[in-house]
Amino acid sequence: MAILKVARLGHPVLRQDAAPVSPEEIRSPEFQRFVDDMVETMREYNGAGLAANQVHVLKQVCVIEVHENPRYPDAPAIPLTVLVNPVVTAVTDEVEDGWEGCLSVPDMRGMVPRATAVHLQALDRDGNPIDLVAKEFFARVIQHETDHLHGIVYVDRMEDLSTLSHLAEWNRYWIGATEQDD
Ligand SMILES: [Zn+2]
Repeated sequence: MAILKVARLGHPVLRQDAAPVSPEEIRSPEFQRFVDDMVETMREYNGAGLAANQVHVLKQVCVIEVHENPRYPDAPAIPLTVLVNPVVTAVTDEVEDGWEGCLSVPDMRGMVPRATAVHLQALDRDGNPIDLVAKEFFARVIQHETDHLHGIVYVDRMEDLSTLSHLAEWNRYWIGATEQDD
């Protein structure tokens, strides 16, 4: 396995549409190795997810996993999920603001409105269909990652750029302001 180089904001690959992956390609050893490399890269950089565009490959595949992630200490756990050719549609008009970060926008956080529930149709890494309704944080990560496959970055979804913050300032000013329980 290998840790892949992550494209940062400004690289054109983050603004391009990824192409669907055929069932034959999904079963190929090369594709399976690429998925393994994406998982290893996501874990190396403590990402909650990673889309192929972010590692300079324009194929519709993303990986998601949240498990005791130091970048998201309060996030609920999400088991390792590989999505190939995902199609995501909102199943509610309800939208919720939440903080997001991105390995392609290092050391930044911004408040992003997202649908609180989405219908997800995709294939898994073996080519088996996935068809489910995801809610809340899982729904947010799915929307973030599938956006990447269409050349969209979270900052495009922000309605109020005044929340866009460097991590140190976010920890100092925003967390203190929004989670002052004691
Ligand atoms: Zn991202």
